[in-house]
Amino acid sequence: ILYNEVQDLKGTIRVYCRVRPFLQEQKDMQSTVDYIGENGNIIINNPFKQEKDARKIFGFNKVFGQNVSQEQIYIDTQPVIRSVLDGFNVCIFAYGQTGSGKTYTMSGPDLMTETAWGVNYRALRDLFQLSNARTHVVTYEIGVQMIEIYNEQVRDLLVTDGSSRRLDIRNNSQLNGLNVPDASLIPVSNTRDVLDLMRIGQKNRAVGATALNERSSRSHSVLTVHVQGKELASGSILRGCLHLVDLAGSERVEKSEAVGERLKEAQHINKSLSALGDVIYALAQKSSHVPYRNSKLTQVLQDSLGGQAKTLMFVHINPEVNAVGETISTLKFAQRVA
Ligand code: ADP
Ligand code: MG
Repeated sequence: ILYNEVQDLKGTIRVYCRVRPFLQEQKDMQSTVDYIGENGNIIINNPFKQEKDARKIFGFNKVFGQNVSQEQIYIDTQPVIRSVLDGFNVCIFAYGQTGSGKTYTMSGPDLMTETAWGVNYRALRDLFQLSNARTHVVTYEIGVQMIEIYNEQVRDLLVTDGSSRRLDIRNNSQLNGLNVPDASLIPVSNTRDVLDLMRIGQKNRAVGATALNERSSRSHSVLTVHVQGKELASGSILRGCLHLVDLAGSERVEKSEAVGERLKEAQHINKSLSALGDVIYALAQKSSHVPYRNSKLTQVLQDSLGGQAKTLMFVHINPEVNAVGETISTLKFAQRVA
């Protein structure tokens, strides 16, 4: 182990809350975020409630207010990311209702502006730098896969021939986290390679969608970074993988307004997000039964959730008054696993 600071994160689940700022046209609006504490507490004020019941407090490992930069977010994520080079498996999730900032945290607002890059690009850049700095001790190979889970079907997002066949999941510890073995696994060695792949992934995600944003908010996207290192002195091999997951929007859909396709999508999202919550909850409770089999998402991530693996969940909230119901249910979801 080269990085001692990651030791105490071993096998733990961390939950970070991030509040997105009001958007340009929303300046001067009332915020439901009443207070953010240094110690990871946040107080939400629900103006629709009687004064005595209006304020609710939640506690997490950290709470990031609306002015926190992408760089600061990464600094608090970096130790977990770097442990992949020591052979750990890591999952990082972005949870929250549509429009709360999940994609902003994971990818950033656009690929061209490096200062605004999200966790995905910063993580890969960091892994490249660190692995290059270690070449006299360990030589690393890094490859990425990118899949989408939509209506409980897994699709490869890195195909270039327009094919969109459904992929199978194998849960076999021999595969070292390669649980979707038929999804393209592309070797990468610098951020340019990664940016090229992201463009392909984003384009494929739009296929079949009426509007890009619509589809992307109803599917989970999973970017997996596979790392294999060979120690020069001993010849031994270590493997780790990092899953960066931009989850489908967590908002509840009114039964009365959802019909047909939309209802089916909503049911699938609901089911998989509860399955994820149940798995993380079981792990946090050190329960002997962890219900991985209840969704495709938890099956794909099975050997990177629990055991020695590290989990970090970013829960996102938006400060608008009309979102307060979703904000509270998001924070309740997160509180259960924190
Ligand atoms: P989601 O992926 O959860 O649907 P997005 O990441 O697309 O939400 O964010 C919705 C909008 O809010 C986008 O216009 C995004 O650029 C903006 N946004 C989100 N988080 C932040 C932030 N921390 N700072 C500035 N703008 C943000
Ligand atoms: Mg998004």
